[in-house]
Amino acid sequence: MDKQDIFAQIHQLEEQMGMAYADLSALKQRVILLLEENQRLSIENQQLRKVLKEVDEETPVTEVAGTKEPVVPTSGGGIDNLARLYQEGFHICNVYYGHLRTEGDCLFCLSFLKK
Ligand SMILES: [Zn+2]
Repeated sequence: MDKQDIFAQIHQLEEQMGMAYADLSALKQRVILLLEENQRLSIENQQLRKVLKEVDEETPVTEVAGTKEPVVPTSGGGIDNLARLYQEGFHICNVYYGHLRTEGDCLFCLSFLKK
């Protein structure tokens, strides 16, 4: 194998690694988007369950107790919800609200929580 072959091979390898890196970045971006969507859907689900529970409580219960599906308890205060959202890895600041925190703590979020 002469020098030309080796350099040609290295060049080829570099290109393949570049492509693999681009694939990895694209994949990471998709995972982030999916996690964000998942969080949005969870929140929506929680809110819908809350509305459902309220509607349910307004209508007189005629069925036998214990046959109904248990309703997931909804938590109270808005700040608690935001703090929990932050703990789950999402931004609650007005700069990146709802986006996944990929770089650890966010100073905007932290200053918001301290208020
Ligand atoms: Zn933030």
